[in-house]
Amino acid sequence: MNAAASRSARRAYINMLRTKQKILLSIFFLAVLFPVILIAISNTTNGTWRSWPRELGSFAGLLGLSLMILASVPINRLPPVTKAFNQDVVYTFHHKYTTAGFFLSTFHLAALWINNPGIGRYLNVFKNYPFYMKSAVFTLVIAGLMVCFAHFRKEFHIDYDVWKFFHSIFAIAVVVFGLIHVFGVNYYTALPWIRWYYIIITAFSGFSILWLRIVSPVRQLGKPYRIIEVNVMNNDATEIVLEFAGKPDQRPIPYQSGQVAWISVRQSPFSFSKHPFSITSDDTNQNRLSFAIRDLGNFTSTVKDLNVGETVYVEGWFGIFDPYKLGNEGIVMIAGGIGIAPVMGMLRSLASRKDKRRFVVFFGSRDRDSILFYDELNEISKVLNLDVIHILEQTDDPAFEKGTITEEALRNHFPKSKDAFDVFVCGPLPMVTIVNKSLERMGIDKKNRWPEFYEMA
Ligand SMILES: Cc1cc2nc3c(=O)[nH]c(=O)nc-3n(C[C@H](O)[C@H](O)[C@H](O)COP(=O)(O)OP(=O)(O)OC[C@H]3O[C@@H](n4cnc5c(N)ncnc54)[C@H](O)[C@@H]3O)c2cc1C
Repeated sequence: MNAAASRSARRAYINMLRTKQKILLSIFFLAVLFPVILIAISNTTNGTWRSWPRELGSFAGLLGLSLMILASVPINRLPPVTKAFNQDVVYTFHHKYTTAGFFLSTFHLAALWINNPGIGRYLNVFKNYPFYMKSAVFTLVIAGLMVCFAHFRKEFHIDYDVWKFFHSIFAIAVVVFGLIHVFGVNYYTALPWIRWYYIIITAFSGFSILWLRIVSPVRQLGKPYRIIEVNVMNNDATEIVLEFAGKPDQRPIPYQSGQVAWISVRQSPFSFSKHPFSITSDDTNQNRLSFAIRDLGNFTSTVKDLNVGETVYVEGWFGIFDPYKLGNEGIVMIAGGIGIAPVMGMLRSLASRKDKRRFVVFFGSRDRDSILFYDELNEISKVLNLDVIHILEQTDDPAFEKGTITEEALRNHFPKSKDAFDVFVCGPLPMVTIVNKSLERMGIDKKNRWPEFYEMA
């Protein structure tokens, strides 16, 4: 592809992504604000507003409930969303609006309490009063626990899978109790539009959960993969190589390097406990798939003991970094530790395609023995126009940079025509945040920066 064609392909891809993002965000905000906008413009109270703390409290309650219903939609694995945003971005957004939903619901109670101190009596759920009022208390308490555990799960030492299971159950409980409350009070929901609005967004949430928990696993069941290699590497990481094991007339779902898949191993695809991993394989062979997995916890510590022949179910693909459409002159890839996984997938695929552009990889590791794929990176450097800069925390060898991936290290090796390069950054959240700030200070445009971090909750 010549330079002009590659520039226009990149522009078209970014425009398409931005358009999708704007459409999805507009739908989201419209869906959240819909009841409040409708009430505000349609004179639904026959022109007579109630006292302002009461109206403000009601509006906050309606908004809070909308946010909490939408929070139960598994957006990080819903195809239209995952084709427009990276998973980490979706998760961060989900955290923010769920928290906003909880605070708006709390504000709802506070405003109504200020308006009428008698409301306080409903806080005692053991007293005799309508269930739809008790439901409001249940909604708030459960939503509060969810927000608290989502933010401080690690501090409470709660196992990720246990947390995820209860998080899903609690999310459904919040929606059910919230709806019982709002339909029980039946003030604004007495308006048909508002009633239908809540029915429609709840049905949407229900269908999306059904899709994720039933439809998608059924599809995965029909497209199994089998482990053909288990390569234990240094630094507690293992690469597993899979081969498509569907029926002869079936084809695997096409994937592209740079993407992420969720996998279930030694369990059915209907299981709750699935894990996301970046694809490390060369995408020119669609029947093969591999993942490099760092031993970090319950599931990842079992990967080195997997056996050839075991079945793996794969849900995918997620992620928006496209190494073929992005990077007019080339790509700078910055990885910390296991963040090298998607970089390997991209380099292997680019090498197979004999891509002529320039590539620079900054790879941070602890020491020489911890460097993953060291030999293979050297081999790929002979095929691609690739420089790999290893940055080691501990080293006395002048062949390596010493320290962490600092702005100075980036400046020293960054291509001169920096605007013609897209920059992909992958690793743990603190590293990605620091590198992203360095890139910003170096004048790398936001449009050229593509961070992805391996932290979701
Ligand atoms: C988009 C994305 C791509 C990733 N790619 C890779 C990769 O290529 N290689 C790799 O080694 N790791 C990758 N990870 C991280 C990997 O998913 C987690 O390390 C793994 O799921 C931990 O599972 P566990 O049962 O061993 O850990 P646990 O014992 O359950 O917990 C250890 C910690 O890992 C995190 N974690 C656990 N389960 C999940 C989960 N389902 N999703 C996200 N985080 C979780 C939690 O913060 C938890 O505290 C990626 C994460 C994301 C979000």
